[in-house]
Amino acid sequence: MSAPAPSSSSSSSSSASLATSPVTEEELTLTVKWSGKEYTVRVCGDDSVAELKRRICELTTVLPKRQKLLYPKIGNKLADDTVLLSQLPLKASVKMTMIGTVEEEIIVDQVDSPEVVDDFELGQDEAVDIKDKEVNKQKLRRRIDQYKIELRNPCREGKKLLVLDIDYTLFDHRSTAENPLELMRPYLHEFLTAVYAEYDIMIWSATSMKWVELKMGQLGVLDNPNYKITALLDHLAMITVQSDTRGIFDCKPLGLIWAKFPEFYSSKNTIMFDDLRRNFVMNPQNGLTIRPFKKAYANRDSDQELVKLTQYLLAIADIDDISSLDHSKWEFFAEDNNKRRRHA
Ligand SMILES: [Mg+2]
Repeated sequence: MSAPAPSSSSSSSSSASLATSPVTEEELTLTVKWSGKEYTVRVCGDDSVAELKRRICELTTVLPKRQKLLYPKIGNKLADDTVLLSQLPLKASVKMTMIGTVEEEIIVDQVDSPEVVDDFELGQDEAVDIKDKEVNKQKLRRRIDQYKIELRNPCREGKKLLVLDIDYTLFDHRSTAENPLELMRPYLHEFLTAVYAEYDIMIWSATSMKWVELKMGQLGVLDNPNYKITALLDHLAMITVQSDTRGIFDCKPLGLIWAKFPEFYSSKNTIMFDDLRRNFVMNPQNGLTIRPFKKAYANRDSDQELVKLTQYLLAIADIDDISSLDHSKWEFFAEDNNKRRRHA
């Protein structure tokens, strides 16, 4: 580990844009001690403990779930990821201590992590509310300043953008196998090959970049001769939002990608597949909730989801504004389209 970053968790390339960002009153600069070194972390009062841990992860590579944070006189409040930092009496002058080890066995780590069981429906009104809240837009702007998307392959003129989750979308990460290919969703390569004709492909997982690269590499997604992956995104690209009825949770704001590549991608030409609907909350019109691929051994002979979704993506590829569609009705769309073609 090199010397601590001078003043923030951002990379040096983004410090210029950070300086011009509006600094909220509640911005906090914290010193975190870990493994004999001190790190400076900049957060905001409306960030949650989960967000603080992600920032610390950026600097130390200790995964959030492996971090234990200690701070005088606040008991175990830092053990609750949903607590907002503004609810804690944190001071810039007092140092925080982190205990945690860098992950060696990241595969094992995935399997023993607690499963997110519940997805939830947010009311239509509330989804609108969350994406329009100034505090969430501010979080998105900060993320745009902080997060760098590395292009593995160039964006292509005139293509739409498909953003894919990994866990339960492309891969059953809860089952175990000697060979990860046994847990891959059926038809994954055929799907990616077919949609690549019309879509650039990005993969965005709520895990670490190390795991995303490892997993996609093992499945043969990163060096397939028939399609190319434009970029990979990880948990550090997510933001934490608060819902009145559902509390605090993380989501994947597509606005981050649109801000980085405005000449290629927008709300009009982007679609994201995820098994967790809440990940779309900042852009509900661009999300398609995919049926989770679980229990790979029982389901891999029957799961046709990617075959059917191939038809849907190709059927809508000519539509200028795909956010005008109701993606929750995607199965009917494909059916109607087939019928139309048969009767034509
Ligand atoms: Mg998932």
